This record gives sequence, structure tokens and C-alpha cells, in this order.
Amino acid sequence: MALIVQKYGGTSVANIDKLHNVASRVVAAKEKGNEVVVVLSAMAGETDRLIQLALSASDNPMDREYDALISTGEQVTVTLLTMILNKMGYKAKSFLGHQVKILTDKAHTKARIISIDTEKTLDELRKGHIVVVAGFQGADHEGNITTLGRGGSDTSAVAIAAALKADYCEIFTDVNGVYTTDPNIYDKAKKLRKISYEEMLELASAGAKVLQQRSVELAKIYEVPVYVRSSFTNDGGTLVTKEDKDMEKEVVSGVTYDRDQAKITVVHVPDKPGIAARLFTPLSDQNIVVDMIIQNASVDAFTDLTFTVPRKDIRQCQTILHKVAEEIGAERLEFDENISKVSIVGVGMKSHAGVASRMFAALANEGINILMISTSEIKISCVIESKYTELAVRVLHDAFGLEQKI
Ligand code: ADP
Ligand code: ASP
Ligand code: MG
Repeated sequence: MALIVQKYGGTSVANIDKLHNVASRVVAAKEKGNEVVVVLSAMAGETDRLIQLALSASDNPMDREYDALISTGEQVTVTLLTMILNKMGYKAKSFLGHQVKILTDKAHTKARIISIDTEKTLDELRKGHIVVVAGFQGADHEGNITTLGRGGSDTSAVAIAAALKADYCEIFTDVNGVYTTDPNIYDKAKKLRKISYEEMLELASAGAKVLQQRSVELAKIYEVPVYVRSSFTNDGGTLVTKEDKDMEKEVVSGVTYDRDQAKITVVHVPDKPGIAARLFTPLSDQNIVVDMIIQNASVDAFTDLTFTVPRKDIRQCQTILHKVAEEIGAERLEFDENISKVSIVGVGMKSHAGVASRMFAALANEGINILMISTSEIKISCVIESKYTELAVRVLHDAFGLEQKI
């Protein structure tokens, strides 16, 4: 007998038929003698609909009300699934985030989980109940409802698995596992049987939506085995786990893209100590994550600073930076939303030379101009014009022979 956390994403719970399919999978796990906690997303498209509804009520809704609204999609799916399970003769109960004591910080729309009190859930499991929890949400110290960022149900599931010391966490989605690149973009993408936490973290941070980045961070810290599987097939899926020796042989194991970034250039700023801090501190105070940063070589004690931020934060950045730019004597600000980031990821990069030059040559052969570059130990990312995104993904996948992977 094992304790399992199963998470089902938006397409897996998109209507009553699909919820019946989820119910039969949950029941199968329960019938094998396991204790089962189920975490659900909202029906596909529902969170987007709620966001549009909020923006039609006010162009600048209060964070507190906004989170309370956009978290409601999950309340619909958890209650419906529980009703179906009950009707099938199984003891099941649904819970919202705050009811199973998912405590978060106050950062509305991108809250981080501080703690989960497992007593309630363990008590229900001991009574033989299937516990069905609304993903994507928690509450802060004052009881205000918070949400965990788009795709946050993955993080709810892994956090609950870690807190309960579950044997493993299964993420059920609309693809058979983690692939060498998004299988919906390139049909030559190959499914990976296993991937290390480190590589998955880099893929997720580089835009592979199959797992939310924060969920992988938690899985790595608490060593939660995570299986990414399809809720529509019986494929074994992909195991996200600790790095092993075989994995090191792979130079590049995945190509990914991120269309949700925007580029900001602060033109002609005085090159003197303290300028970067003046620019970036007000952004981090608002929880805006700055990703890539480039500073040009200084000419006549002036320089240009270019960086990327999530596209959804661009309006807020404009407001903040116009003020700062004036204060620090910058000539002007430039905003570019027609960019995307393509990245290659692989633990083998640590020990192989020439990976970056192969990437740059592959892009150059297609006439794709590189606007920014950043590297980590196991990832190289390039910012390019967004119209080239799919082409770039395909040429990089080919350049590193990823269709040969098994
Ligand atoms: P869910 O609603 O189940 O959470 P998501 O849409 O968040 O599903 O994530 C699954 C999607 O992730 C897939 O449909 C696929 O388009 C995308 N994806 C991006 N990169 C990858 C990858 N490397 N492997 C698998 N899927 C990927
Ligand atoms: N429903 C939320 C979203 O669409 C959370 C999730 O699906 O994981 O982002
Ligand atoms: Mg998702």
C-alpha cells in the first residue's frame, strides 16, 4: 500500500465525461489498496475566462478580490469529482486550499507555500476517504485567498506530496510525459523515460509548461518522485528524479521556448555604482522576476541596460521604470514584446565543449538573429524575434539529434 498524490490538469477535467475518466483512474488506484489524495485544476480555459471577467469589472482589480475570483474554477472541479466518486460508492471529500491548511505568503497571484498542516488530510485518509483538494490556491496568515501563479496546481500537488511524505506524485496531463521538446510544436519530439530534477527545473524555468517551475523546485528539495503521465492513455510516462550516471552522457536532453517574456532596454544611463540596484530593487519589491540581464560596454561613462521580464508584468514595469529612469538620468526606455526565448538544456553540457557554438550556428543557418544570450551550467538560452520561435525549436532539435533519443 502506498500514499499517492494524483494531480489532473485542465484538459483532463474539462467536462463531466472527462471527470468520469478521472474518477475511474482514482478508483483504480484506491482499489489497489493505496491511500489517494487528488489535486485538481479548473476546467480548461476556465481560469482565463475568470481573469477576463475580472478585467471586465475593473482594469485594475484589487489583488485580494482577483485571487478570490480566479481560484473558483478549482472549486467547481473538486466538488463535481467528489460527487461522481460518491455516486460510484466511494467515500470522498473535497477541500479548498485553506481547508487543508495550505498557508502561503501574501504575494497575491504568485504566492509561495509556507507550510501545510497535514493533520486534517491524514485524518480523512485514515477514515478511508479519498481526499480531493483544489489546486492553485492557499490562504495567507489573515485568511485571504491567494493563488500560486499560472499552472500552480502542479505546485499544490507536489507540496502536498512532500508534506504527507507520499510515496510519489503523479501529474496527469494531455501528453504522455516530458518530451525532448513540446510535442505539440514538433512531431519529432521524443518522450523521455527519466529526467533529473535539475534538467526539469531548467526546462520549466525556460518555459516548458508541462510542470510549473516551483513544483520542480519543491520536488527536488523534498526528493518527491514525480511521474508525468497522460490521463488519456496507459503510457508509463516520465519519471522526474535524482540525477544518475546515464543521464550525464546526454549533452542536450531538451529544447524549450518561452513566449511569455518581454524585453526592456534602458538607453544611455550613467555608468556608475548603484544604478542597477536603483532599477531592479523596485521591480523585485513588486515580485517582478527579472530573467536575463545584459549591460553594454560603457562609452563615455554611459551604457545601455537590457533585461527581460514576464510579459504579463510589462505594464507594471512601465509605471515603475518611467519614474526611475527619470531619476537616474536615462535617455529613454524601449519595450519589446515581440520576442521569445529558446533554450537548450542538458546535464552533459557541464563536461562537453562547443555546445553553445553549435546552437548559435544552427540558428544562424536559418537567418535567425540572436538578441540576447544567457547561460547556466546546464542551459543556454537565446532571445530571438518571436516569429522564429517554432523554426528555432525545430532546428535546434535537429542540430542536437534529439529525434534519435530513446
Ligand atoms: P495541464 O493543463 O495538464 O496542467 P499544461 O498545458 O499546463 O497541462 O502542460 C502540458 C503541455 O505542456 C503540453 O500540452 C505541451 O504542449 C506542453 N509542453 C511544453 N514543453 C513540453 C515538453 N518538453 N514535454 C511535454 N509537454 C510540453
Ligand atoms: N487553473 C490554474 C491555471 O489555469 C492552475 C492550473 O491549471 O494549474 O493556471
Ligand atoms: Mg499545467
